[in-house]
Amino acid sequence: MSKTLAYIALGANLGDPIGMLLDVIDELRELPGCSNLESSGFYRTAPFEATGPDFINAVVSLHTTLSPLELLHALQALENKHGRVRTEHNGPRTLDLDLLVFGDTQMDTPELTLPHPRMHQRAFVLYPLADLAPTLKLAQGSVQDLLPSVADQGIEALDMGFDDEDDE
Ligand code: ADP
Ligand code: MG
Repeated sequence: MSKTLAYIALGANLGDPIGMLLDVIDELRELPGCSNLESSGFYRTAPFEATGPDFINAVVSLHTTLSPLELLHALQALENKHGRVRTEHNGPRTLDLDLLVFGDTQMDTPELTLPHPRMHQRAFVLYPLADLAPTLKLAQGSVQDLLPSVADQGIEALDMGFDDEDDE
């Protein structure tokens, strides 16, 4: 069965957001029809078009045999499982999972727009995405070329110690 490379943005700003994202990445790794998950580093960002405490953000890539809507529904099931409370749009949430890119798929429906229509404006998407795919081309330019346009948003890479070659 043919596999599609998909990119997913993760964000959380309530409770224990780092622990939440670590758990969700493990669950994404185990999703039926999904394989080869790779994660960006973790980033801390001030709320952007949102309210509440700082967000922790990351992006993962994976290969999937699911359709775009099947993958979106799997992401929404994870959001619900982790107790996301849908109150105000862009309000505080325990977990937000956005489908950024699904292969070459372009679609624009109320339920799913691909590529994600606002991803090129968001430091909390572009910085982690640049860890995985700096040369990925969006309609607005490559991920690495778009970074300067969002550099003023305030984003800090977390040192999680994952790549520390001195670790025992
Ligand atoms: P946001 O992530 O912009 O803060 P929400 O997560 O509350 O907003 O809104 C998600 C809604 O957007 C869902 O109803 C979903 O069907 C729709 N949607 C459209 N395109 C996408 C996409 N690429 N990824 C995730 N949700 C999407
Ligand atoms: Mg969302």
